[in-house]
Amino acid sequence: MAEAKEDEKEPQGPIPCSPCRGTGKLNSNSGGEPHEVDCPWCEGSGVFIEEHDAQASQRPEGEVADEKPQAEVD
Ligand SMILES: [Zn+2]
Repeated sequence: MAEAKEDEKEPQGPIPCSPCRGTGKLNSNSGGEPHEVDCPWCEGSGVFIEEHDAQASQRPEGEVADEKPQAEVD
């Protein structure tokens, strides 16, 4: 497993999605029979989506670190 450095972001071209290795498909063994599914990390595109959270839809609301500009009233 490769470790990603969060404090080092290098802007570059399309990065191949690592979970599916750029294929956009993952082999799932759920159900006892291996079958291909669309990679949730890149949504089947095969291209790494920055800050895309494959588990976002399964997460309860409120845990997403979403910075919204708030007017300061004092
Ligand atoms: Zn992928």
